[in-house]
Amino acid sequence: MLHYLLNFLYPPRCAVCGAGLPIDTTRRVCAPCLGAVEPLRAPLCILCGAPLAAGGDDQRCRHCRGVAPAFDSARAITRYRSGADGSSTVAALLRRHKYGLDQSLGRALAEYLDAAPPLHAGGYDLVIPVPLHRARLRWRGFNQAALLGAALARRLNCPLDVATLARVHATAPQTARDRGARARNVRNAFAVRRPSRVAGRRILLVDDVMTTGATADECARVLRAAGARRIDVLTLARVL
Ligand SMILES: [Zn+2]
Ligand SMILES: [Zn+2]
Repeated sequence: MLHYLLNFLYPPRCAVCGAGLPIDTTRRVCAPCLGAVEPLRAPLCILCGAPLAAGGDDQRCRHCRGVAPAFDSARAITRYRSGADGSSTVAALLRRHKYGLDQSLGRALAEYLDAAPPLHAGGYDLVIPVPLHRARLRWRGFNQAALLGAALARRLNCPLDVATLARVHATAPQTARDRGARARNVRNAFAVRRPSRVAGRRILLVDDVMTTGATADECARVLRAAGARRIDVLTLARVL
């Protein structure tokens, strides 16, 4: 009833494209924008989740065959496209909210998780979002990964932990750098504050976008060093 009244006073609009939504909606993203999400299709690298050429024998991509990642597996809900034709609604959603405070972003992101997330069936003990550095969090006001992590934790009925993994060095934004440079940029950027929280646990690490996987790999490395038993990574989108 309250949402109806609020919707009447502030007509609801799609968080991605701005189209008007029905007055009685509880949703934040319109049906066409949700329907435009393109899932990553098998075959995928069993480690990092990158698409593989169909018909090949190898279950791992070129990069994972070279150096296995520190996480057990990574999967994404959708491919990140940022074409001028607006081909990725997820890209539009993330871009639109990246530098503006919008409390509804978490709800909008969660709507993309409606289909069963592509996760390891064994379950998890903790959901941990990739943290922002304090300074950036203060400046931006929220962490997209934490909003997504909160939505996933609710869905999986699993505790959310935003305190144990910390970003201890502010790093330059991961833009337009090659794989090696991206890995060096995040090296030693993360620390586990309370190793006892993660020792022996199965961790689901959550981020908004994965590019080369360097950030997730570095987080997984310190979680592993602290004794984490299993570390899977779920991102909303994957840049390929
Ligand atoms: Zn829309
Ligand atoms: Zn791979």
